[in-house]
Amino acid sequence: MISDHNSTKAVERRKAYPIRCVECGKKEVRPAVLRQHHVQRNHDGRLYDLVVNDLPVTRCKACGEVYFTEESDERIVAALRDHLALLTPAQIRANLETLGLSQKEAAGRLGIAPETLSRWLCGAVIQSRAMDNLLRAFFACPQVREKLTGAEIDRAFGEKVEMGTSRI
Ligand SMILES: [Zn+2]
Repeated sequence: MISDHNSTKAVERRKAYPIRCVECGKKEVRPAVLRQHHVQRNHDGRLYDLVVNDLPVTRCKACGEVYFTEESDERIVAALRDHLALLTPAQIRANLETLGLSQKEAAGRLGIAPETLSRWLCGAVIQSRAMDNLLRAFFACPQVREKLTGAEIDRAFGEKVEMGTSRI
C-alpha cells in the first residue's frame, strides 16, 4: 500500500517536468539520480556523515544545477534513521495498530503532543534517541503501558528501585 502511494506521487511529480531552472532560466530541469551522494545531517545535536545511493533529485540539463526534491529529502531522512537504528514510521504505526491505540491516545500516554507523533509518523521528523527508547519500552513492556495511562500519574512508578533488583 505504501509503495502504491509512493509510485502515485512519483507519477504526479513526473508530469510536471521539465520545469524552469532557477539558475539559468531554461526549462530543462528533469528527474535525475545521484549514484552516491555524501551528505551531513544533524540528529540530537550531533552531525552524521551519510552516503545515500541512487538519490532521486532533479537536474538542469542546460547548466547542470541539481535540485533536491521532497523525495530526495525523504530518502536522506530514511538513510539517517536507518543509520541510527531508530524505529521507522511504519514500525511505529504497526505497533499502534496492534495495540489498538489511536494517535491521540498514544500521544497522551507518552506525554507528547499529538502533532509530534504525527510528524514522526509522516516521516517529517525523526524522534530523538530518548524518545525512541520510550517508544520501544512502551511497545515492548505491558508493565510500562499499564502505568502510562495518560490519566492519573502513578507517583510510585519508577520512583524507587527495589533493593536487590538486578541491573539487567
Ligand atoms: Zn539551468
